[in-house]
Amino acid sequence: MEHINFLAFAMPAFFLFLFIEFKMAQRRKKPEIFNYESSVSNISIGIAERLINLFIAASFYQLYYFIYDNYRLFDVSSNVFVWLALILATDFVWYWYHRLGHEVNFFWAAHIVHHHSEEFNFTAAARITTFQAIVRTGFWCVLPFVGFHPSMVITMLIVHGAYSFFTHTQMIGRIKWLEYVFVTPSVHGVHHASDEKYLDKNYGDMFTFWDRLFGTFQEEEEKPKYGLTHPLKSYSFLWQHFHYYFEIYELWKRSHGFKARWKAVFGSPAHMDQDIRPILEKRFLQDKENPHQRLRFKNYLYIQLGASVLLLTVFTYYFDYLNVVDKVSVLFVILITLVNCGALLEQRKWIYYLEYGRIFIITTYLLYEEDLTSFFFIPLVVMIFAEQLFSLGKRYQNVVLQLEPVE
Ligand SMILES: [Zn+2]
Ligand SMILES: [Zn+2]
Repeated sequence: MEHINFLAFAMPAFFLFLFIEFKMAQRRKKPEIFNYESSVSNISIGIAERLINLFIAASFYQLYYFIYDNYRLFDVSSNVFVWLALILATDFVWYWYHRLGHEVNFFWAAHIVHHHSEEFNFTAAARITTFQAIVRTGFWCVLPFVGFHPSMVITMLIVHGAYSFFTHTQMIGRIKWLEYVFVTPSVHGVHHASDEKYLDKNYGDMFTFWDRLFGTFQEEEEKPKYGLTHPLKSYSFLWQHFHYYFEIYELWKRSHGFKARWKAVFGSPAHMDQDIRPILEKRFLQDKENPHQRLRFKNYLYIQLGASVLLLTVFTYYFDYLNVVDKVSVLFVILITLVNCGALLEQRKWIYYLEYGRIFIITTYLLYEEDLTSFFFIPLVVMIFAEQLFSLGKRYQNVVLQLEPVE
């Protein structure tokens, strides 16, 4: 049966909490907790994951049911103790999923994106990619396999996911006594740090006892320096998603023999050749022209992000009522907008053509809705004429890509 999707309310809730956090940071005179470019990039990645999730979440759920129906080891009933066991089991699976996410190149390629952010606030919690969601689903399959009913598993995953949102903030100080059992923002902040003694610590999501048990617990001592040991110097939407897969492929090509190649894919990220990334960046990214300047036309970015969030919220709410053309059109318009936001931050000249691509998708969709699909070429002709007559490309470069010095 068709139904409305209440996950739509996650988006307004996210922005409400973000707003509160932002206001608190201002009041406490800590505006440096937020960085404009990084926040835009974090939110863009979160939007993409929520968007693609709409298309694939059902197959995740079907997989849990398939495993439960055909391969479950035990018949676990549902009572209070079973729910408690499920919370513990979920966090235990998470611990290993997360730890392997840091110890195995192939899994790190998906998880690294969560760690790109050099700011630690609620926007960093949004930095989850679809690749990460897919890897994670593989691990979650253990739960229905053991015998937990999929409906319980799905409920628990929502609770578990919501908990980790609140551990991404600097607005809550250390709560020492709570750390004996629960992961607090301070504990998870250590996990996001690149300081030597904080590396590869605190993998738990809700509880700290797995880390204590396996010797990976570290409490906060000095203030952490958030981000990666080798920071990614790009806000490109696509590059952030794919760079580590390219790095693995490059390492694989350079390796000789089965053992070396196996290590390239399943070895430790600590052994990744650090010469590879700069070479790939030269090949795939154009150098930023002015690294010490930032975009003046910030409102254009905010409008695009705001429109994407609004569209995504409505889209999520009505997802089950829409047909394939609606779904695919919205998917592409939002994805192009996100690529566009990253490209704006990087001042890429080609985004001008991306703008045309987006207008073309929107006009074609509107014509399709009016049963006028055969007139799809009209907007195209108008755009070509407008370009020739008013040299819009040049104006776009001059107005939209204007820069100002970083204060
Ligand atoms: Zn991590
Ligand atoms: Zn995190």
